[in-house]
Amino acid sequence: MRYHSDIPDVEIENVELTKKGDIILTVVSTVEGTHCHKCGREISKPYGHGKMIKLRHLSILGMNVYIHIRPVRYQCTSCAGKPVTTQILNWYNPRSPHTKAYDNHILLEMVNSTVEDVSIKEDLGYEAVMGSLYRHIDTEVNWDGIKRLDVIGL
Ligand SMILES: [Zn+2]
Repeated sequence: MRYHSDIPDVEIENVELTKKGDIILTVVSTVEGTHCHKCGREISKPYGHGKMIKLRHLSILGMNVYIHIRPVRYQCTSCAGKPVTTQILNWYNPRSPHTKAYDNHILLEMVNSTVEDVSIKEDLGYEAVMGSLYRHIDTEVNWDGIKRLDVIGL
């Protein structure tokens, strides 16, 4: 299945419609291997899966969409202790409950709206909307480049 063009590098394994009217897409990665988080080498020795990640995604026909993925883990055979690295695909941030596409959608919804408006329209908690905003600020502002905050004269 390929209708989900905004989510690259996955195959849809299962589509479920819940009683509540949500769509749950269970996907698997089609990318093999990852880079060891210690030495940076490409590694491809599978080491099971991480915990299921559940991500809110763009709605389809007015229905809330969630993507479930169990990330693949790989083991480095070069590093001492043979550390394991979890594969991350580039359409989500492992610390976010939303796909990047959904976070962007929330930001657009915020234009001329309040957090409460968006929360209601999206059937999403206040904190979840704020989370999208915070993640956006984190990406857009390079805090490392701001060395002299005292100059601003707070
Ligand atoms: Zn390594």
